[in-house]
Amino acid sequence: MVKVLMSKNDKFLIKDITKDFHTKHGFFKKEELKKTRKITSNTKKEFTVFNPYFIDLYKKIKRDAQIIPLKDIGLIVSETGIDNKSEIVDAGAGSGALCCFLANIAKEVTTYEIRKDFIEIVKKNIKFLKLKNIKIKNRNVYEGIDEKNIDVITFDLPEPWKAISAAKNVLKTGGFLVSYSPTIPQATDFINEINKDKDFVHVKTSEIIERNWEIDGRKVRPLSQQIGHSGFISFVRKI
Ligand code: SAH
Repeated sequence: MVKVLMSKNDKFLIKDITKDFHTKHGFFKKEELKKTRKITSNTKKEFTVFNPYFIDLYKKIKRDAQIIPLKDIGLIVSETGIDNKSEIVDAGAGSGALCCFLANIAKEVTTYEIRKDFIEIVKKNIKFLKLKNIKIKNRNVYEGIDEKNIDVITFDLPEPWKAISAAKNVLKTGGFLVSYSPTIPQATDFINEINKDKDFVHVKTSEIIERNWEIDGRKVRPLSQQIGHSGFISFVRKI
């Protein structure tokens, strides 16, 4: 059983509640970690223990390949309206961050990944998040996609234009192809290929800039350290 331990200033995920939990704020006795309640460490620091939400677990998944940050996943989910009826194909899986987040909302996600070492990380993350609706395929997505009648396809690939025809074959009419690229030449080459195809419409390409603020009394200002550049997100629909 996994628990969250949270105070005004700090937060921990306890992965094993059969042992006392040690922190820089002192330690918490295992007997006290089972139920949702306020507890104090041996050094009298007050924390609350509760069952994790999906997002508490998600923020602790293993990362190897560069993951898509939450600010960008937010746009992908809102622009495509992914819901519990959505059938999704994702490539490449990388650490599985995007596919796991989407699987928590969608009906089913199939993710393609060429590297076996990354697949092992994705499997661990799926197990940790207790997701039952993700399939992983150790395949080169440029060579084709097997699934049919797909609502949304997400690409986070070095050369996404090479997978356009694979996507076209399996997307439903009106379905979305979302391509995520860290650089503008990748986004440009992808959209220029899309624009040559009469069966695809370029809806938009966006970059999300998130600025976080410190609010402490009247000391109210943007944090000096912000999230840096992540990627450009292109939305395309099949007609
Ligand atoms: N979106 C992922 C990160 C993907 S990183 C996340 O949020 O965690 C890009 C991944 O694409 C890498 O793991 C790489 O191995 C994989 N990849 C590159 N080319 C591929 C291809 N042709 N077919 C399938 N996977 C590919």
